[in-house]
Amino acid sequence: MDDNEVLRKIANSVIVTMHQIPELQHLSINDLHEIPLGFLRRDATRLHAVCRYRRGISKAQISGPSDVRCVDIHPVAMQVEWRLYAAFLIYHEFLHALGYTGHDRTFRRLEALWPNTTATKMGAAFGQHLRRKRSKWLWKCPQCGKEHPRNRRGNGRYRCRECRVILQDVPAES
Ligand SMILES: [Zn+2]
Ligand SMILES: [Zn+2]
Repeated sequence: MDDNEVLRKIANSVIVTMHQIPELQHLSINDLHEIPLGFLRRDATRLHAVCRYRRGISKAQISGPSDVRCVDIHPVAMQVEWRLYAAFLIYHEFLHALGYTGHDRTFRRLEALWPNTTATKMGAAFGQHLRRKRSKWLWKCPQCGKEHPRNRRGNGRYRCRECRVILQDVPAES
């Protein structure tokens, strides 16, 4: 299966799950099948997924999936170990597609209905994974072993927050 097929399969499973969440049943969940799916650039680190609306439509006018141009997901999330998180990312973007454009309390309440609570907590680890893949150096604490991926050397200027020991520069092999 190529990444596009994996993405479509995960998205379909997300829609199936959404049909099982009682609080979402008044929304046009089936229309989510019509949204074109795509990928962010592979070197994106800050953004994990995005819901892009059609040009010329303000956020206040978004009423549902027909106002959505595409949903793009980070390609690294297609790797087997990140697929649970990919499903949660798609769920998040699908809520935006259904007209919940901001991250307000209503949005967060609906987002929290996602049944896989492991997936909902994987965002920080995924961000760390992406930065690590891209970084040239690890600033490593010789005492506790904690590593901080960075693009520049630390040159002995930084200390571990817990141990107060000076961090060492280790080349990152990606
Ligand atoms: Zn969002
Ligand atoms: Zn330490």
